[in-house]
Amino acid sequence: MMGDEPASLQVPWARSSLKRASTRFDPIVKPPRRDAGVAEVDAGVAEVDAGVAEVDAGSSEVDAGVDAGWVHTGPFGAEISPHLGLGIPDDSSVGRADKWLLVRSQLVVSYDTTRKIPNWSAWKLESANFGSASRATSFRVDPLLGTAPQARDSDYVGSGFDRGHLCPSADRTASDADNDATFFLTNVVPQTHASNAGPWLDLEDEARQLANAGKKLLIIAGPVFAANPSSIGTGVPVPSATWKVVIVTNGDASPATLNPSTTIVYATVVPNTSVVSGSWRQWQTTVDAVEAMTGLDFLSDVDPDVQSALESRIDQ
Ligand code: MN
Ligand code: MN
Repeated sequence: MMGDEPASLQVPWARSSLKRASTRFDPIVKPPRRDAGVAEVDAGVAEVDAGVAEVDAGSSEVDAGVDAGWVHTGPFGAEISPHLGLGIPDDSSVGRADKWLLVRSQLVVSYDTTRKIPNWSAWKLESANFGSASRATSFRVDPLLGTAPQARDSDYVGSGFDRGHLCPSADRTASDADNDATFFLTNVVPQTHASNAGPWLDLEDEARQLANAGKKLLIIAGPVFAANPSSIGTGVPVPSATWKVVIVTNGDASPATLNPSTTIVYATVVPNTSVVSGSWRQWQTTVDAVEAMTGLDFLSDVDPDVQSALESRIDQ
């Protein structure tokens, strides 16, 4: 019961009355934040509660840079999955036709069943994800969608486009089950081979090198489309480009512990054309630019001032 809870969790107005006008989430998901069972999760978002300085005077280390007027009112990414540890970028939820949230231990996907294409895939990457599992041999439909429309392997056969992984196969080799999870077609977009085997692979390789060197990464990637995209198969739209945001940290990133001075942020938008080649850096951009292009809000659980700093940077 409430009596066992830290004082900061007993303030019912903390989330409602201090809500900022700019908050773009509706509180669609109301996690049981005051249950003892989610104590670990609450600890992970201590920064947010600590921002209400009056109710938690003891957390000086996380008060720095926190806007005391900012309180996140939507679902916290960490409450959904560690792969969304810095926030979920939109209001995707389980069963929502155009933003169907598919949560697995290996990755999280937002899928648009009305267009039969993922909105984004998100995954954490660290050296523990690498092992000796062999690459799966076939792509498959996603059972988490039940009977809802989704792309099928036959949509890709003979299309001229690769089945382009968002979360790559090579990022999940610790077990067969982990690798298989990247082969659901909900994690796939029609991608030119030039991009898939060129700049897109180049950034995938760089991320794996960083993970192998001990970094922990939070990655999110997805497609963007022209106004009237061409399509393959039974109407699976072909992206005009694929984008990716990579947050590289020295340890497990949480909104409370994310240190802007030691965090590396990469963002890119790679054209989905047959002529791209070479380094992903040719299309490096800011997170702000990807947000403007997609309407998504990355790092949404991070204090807005820290977000602004990280999202406007182009890191080497
Ligand atoms: Mn690929
Ligand atoms: Mn953002």
